[in-house]
Amino acid sequence: MKQYDVAVAGGGLIGASIAFELASEGMRVAVFDAQNPGREASWASAGMISPAPESSVMASLLPISMASVQLYPEFLQRVEELSGKTVGYRKDGALDLLLNGAEQSEIDEILALHRGAGLRAEVLSGPEAREIEPALTSELRAAVHRPDEASLDNRLFTEATLEAARRKGAEIFPGNGAKALWKERNTCKGLQLQEGRVEARWTVIAAGCFSACIEGVAAYAPVTPAKGQMMALRCDSVNLKKDLWSGHMYLVPRHDGRIIAGSTVEYEGFDRNVTVAGMKKILGGAISLVPALESARIEETWAGLRPDSPDHLPILGPTDLDGLLIATGHFRSGILLTPITARLIREWVTTQKVSENWAPFSPMRFQQARHSRGA
Ligand SMILES: Cc1cc2nc3c(=O)[nH]c(=O)nc-3n(C[C@H](O)[C@H](O)[C@H](O)COP(=O)(O)OP(=O)(O)OC[C@H]3O[C@@H](n4cnc5c(N)ncnc54)[C@H](O)[C@@H]3O)c2cc1C
Repeated sequence: MKQYDVAVAGGGLIGASIAFELASEGMRVAVFDAQNPGREASWASAGMISPAPESSVMASLLPISMASVQLYPEFLQRVEELSGKTVGYRKDGALDLLLNGAEQSEIDEILALHRGAGLRAEVLSGPEAREIEPALTSELRAAVHRPDEASLDNRLFTEATLEAARRKGAEIFPGNGAKALWKERNTCKGLQLQEGRVEARWTVIAAGCFSACIEGVAAYAPVTPAKGQMMALRCDSVNLKKDLWSGHMYLVPRHDGRIIAGSTVEYEGFDRNVTVAGMKKILGGAISLVPALESARIEETWAGLRPDSPDHLPILGPTDLDGLLIATGHFRSGILLTPITARLIREWVTTQKVSENWAPFSPMRFQQARHSRGA
């Protein structure tokens, strides 16, 4: 049995980026994935790097979201240089769209949320927004412009991060996932794998929405899958510059000319089927924002499973088992939060101190909640 400094369960973007950071520090790192790594949520995602809170509930994410945005350029540069792959990063901003019928109070609410968070945001009239994006519907009442937002091709980014981790010496084992924590008294000694077991000073659980299926993990990471359906469109007459938002619907232009359209949020267990209802909702939303998309070709449809937690916040940090760290529950923000997650786990493993307050995301919060309910 081989021994490592760090054993990571899960080779999605979160596990890959943690492996990359720790291997870059000269640590011996192994990543164990139940299948080919990087084929779950990190593959299915829309790839937006958007710190804008969708509601006041998500405002507690803001400090680490902003820290992650700051880390992105350098993190990307390291990943691209080492892997030799580019990841389609675009920093062209986003428009939050309000169609006719929207109330002034909705516009005020969006602005207050953004400005309260310290994000640059300006209100544009319908015609002003159409000057920037001529393909937008004439039914547009107003738009909130967020000039600092970015997106990337998350599939390329995940592949590149896995490759960068490998080049720094991390070993990646596809098709040998974690079955259980390997516990001895108050210590996590490593992982029981599908085949054999691995011993490590540090064990990091980063298996996305599957994390709670690993025996012993659910108490720290009670994650559930939140399905999101997506499609890729191509339309010669539409050339979008900005990421477009309207409610939960979005259109994200890619560097290769595709437009990614999404999404749904469905709690259907581990089901990944694409449904007529899902496609109807996305297509209806897309056409209402950009009518010319009626002539677009549908290049691909898919669905992925976001790792959601009971309070929709990430689950990050140490546990009451010595050596066990959790890094999951990133829900709709895992791409955004990749660099900061990797940084915080690296800081904890190397110095047992972190540069951001991660107490609100502690894996121990679910146990405390259970105890205070007397369960
Ligand atoms: C439709 C959709 C759109 C999204 N859009 C955005 C967006 O625009 N911006 C944003 O920031 N976020 C977005 N997200 C969220 C983001 O994609 C996720 O939060 C992020 O990818 C989670 O990464 P992960 O590595 O934790 O999980 P995953 O990518 O799901 O990776 C988990 C890995 O663990 C492996 N695994 C499973 N079981 C085991 C086991 N027992 N042992 C070991 N390994 C195991 C899996 O095979 C997989 O490789 C979106 C998600 C979806 C589904």
